[in-house]
Amino acid sequence: MKKITIAIDGYSSTGKSTIAKQLAKALGYIYIDTGAMYRAVTLFAIRNGFIGGAQDNPQALVKLLPKLNLKFVYNEALEFSEMYLNNENVEDEIRTLAVSSKVSEIAAIEQVRYKLVDIQKQMGKEKGVVMDGRDIGTVVLPDAELKLFMTASSEKRATRRYKELIDKGEKVTFAEVLKNVEHRDYLDTHREFSPLKMAENAIEFDNSDMGLKEQFERIYNYAIRVIEK
Ligand code: C5P
Repeated sequence: MKKITIAIDGYSSTGKSTIAKQLAKALGYIYIDTGAMYRAVTLFAIRNGFIGGAQDNPQALVKLLPKLNLKFVYNEALEFSEMYLNNENVEDEIRTLAVSSKVSEIAAIEQVRYKLVDIQKQMGKEKGVVMDGRDIGTVVLPDAELKLFMTASSEKRATRRYKELIDKGEKVTFAEVLKNVEHRDYLDTHREFSPLKMAENAIEFDNSDMGLKEQFERIYNYAIRVIEK
């Protein structure tokens, strides 16, 4: 079967990674979670006090960017690639609300985007990739044969994210999670460099009232149609 490139963008907590992982598994493609990369850089910035610390100093982060090593390592048991920051597995830590509440500030820094977009373009060179993020269909992989733009109401999205965090044992309130989801949407759509917007040739997909099974079937069918064209 012919291989294609699939770009999935959209608002925070719209289930992009869930559908991306399902598609990658069903098609035998590689899944790349670009949000994990911005989260790892944010974790590094928080740990070093460059943001949210005593001296908020994103420029200090920019100076250290060349020394940052980001890589994905496939976990056979979990069947997906985990994020490593300077050879440390940070997969759990990057999903906390502490990181979520700062990541969109870090993702707005031009030099951070240059570095990560460059790595992402390299990773997306070969066909047979499903990549999700905010600027995949517009900037990272503009030639992707299938582009999806995921949306859902902010209440639905916050409900899903809240459940996930509570299940992981995080002490958060629904109001905090809703505020975070809406704040990230605002920052992501209003930043100067490659803001979140739908690519012209993307399919908009609202999953507010849709179960995972129906969502997968519909999107898988889009993919098959493009592959067989
Ligand atoms: O996808 P996820 O919610 O993990 O992404 C975390 C944050 O990283 C987003 O809110 C956004 O600020 C940033 N991001 C981005 N561009 C991408 C992927 C993520 O700016 N391609």
